Amino acid sequence: MILAVPRPSSYSQFAHHLSNLGLQVREDVPLRELTRFQIGGEVRVLAETSEESLFLEGMRAVRTLGLPWLALGAGTNLIASDDGFSGVILRFRGARVELRETSVYAESGAELQDLVDFTIASGLEGLHTMTRIPGWVGGAVYGNAGAYGNSIGAAVEGVRFFDGRVLRGLDHDGCRFGYRDSIFKHNKDWIILSVSLTLPPGNAEAMRRRAAEIRSIRDAKYPPSMRCAGSIFKNLLVSELPEPVAAALPPGVVIEGKLPAGWLLDQVGAKGMRRGDIQVAAYHANTIYNDGAGKSEDLRALIEELKVRVRERFGIQLEEEVQYVGF
Ligand SMILES: Cc1cc2nc3c(=O)[nH]c(=O)nc-3n(C[C@H](O)[C@H](O)[C@H](O)COP(=O)(O)OP(=O)(O)OC[C@H]3O[C@@H](n4cnc5c(N)ncnc54)[C@H](O)[C@@H]3O)c2cc1C
Repeated sequence: MILAVPRPSSYSQFAHHLSNLGLQVREDVPLRELTRFQIGGEVRVLAETSEESLFLEGMRAVRTLGLPWLALGAGTNLIASDDGFSGVILRFRGARVELRETSVYAESGAELQDLVDFTIASGLEGLHTMTRIPGWVGGAVYGNAGAYGNSIGAAVEGVRFFDGRVLRGLDHDGCRFGYRDSIFKHNKDWIILSVSLTLPPGNAEAMRRRAAEIRSIRDAKYPPSMRCAGSIFKNLLVSELPEPVAAALPPGVVIEGKLPAGWLLDQVGAKGMRRGDIQVAAYHANTIYNDGAGKSEDLRALIEELKVRVRERFGIQLEEEVQYVGF
């Protein structure tokens, strides 16, 4: 019961409370264990469960006490501070993926790849090009993840989420999906619990072949051991570029109406730049990785330097696709 939550005098006491509720709880967990960049100091409490009712109980306790908190998935799109996060991280690990009448239902803690594989096996078209995007379904909906012409938002019929007080649902239009954007990015205290998707029938064999091609391209670009967050910056809609920049673009650089941020970064000499153990890939200017014992301080400074270079040369403000924790 919410009202029975004692005001803890310490995070340890609160961790105990969550543990008594039935959540799996760890204290002082390094964020480098929770993020693919493998960077970041400690979070005071990490609490997780695959039981939705337990998760909501834990969530309500955190909210009732007004503790700083954050929802997390697989941590593949995050830069965490070297100073850590003085608060509670909650992870909902419900991972069911199933057909429900004409829709595919997925809990937010499912691996995105499991959802992709499920749709291919079910002969449903639209997510197969998202093969090898790491992370969980909740994080994918939050950022409207996508690749090779498809994004998850296009297939979303509805999302169930907790708004801090009650469970709610939004239909496709209500989610306001845009390029790497959704209503959830603008309401950071909402937690996605599950999603239903509608996909048209397709040719499973053709989808399998395309997925295999994409897997090998992606594995070459992002080896599974690479400590990174995919693209650091969003690409740019050509329709929103300053006129002189749009007019001077060489043929072939625009893909699906977008100018890759990597092209701009390449023009300002980003490839191969380094700061401490943080490295810009020599083959892709929008990929930055941790090449050893990287620090978030160096990562942020390098990102800032790249933004300044692009702004000074092109008058364009790059926007991060990655999210920050603890800054
Ligand atoms: C090698 C590599 C390649 C990538 N390629 C692509 C790509 O091609 N296309 C693409 O779109 N992305 C790509 N990404 C980025 C990343 O994989 C996706 O953004 C992914 O969907 C993030 O999921 P996650 O579970 O890791 O989220 P996290 O990194 O854990 O979280 C990201 C954000 O989502 C929020 N969030 C997470 N779960 C929930 C929830 N249940 N409710 C509310 N908010 C939540 C978090 O608070 C955080 O702000 C790539 C990343 C890597 C490392």
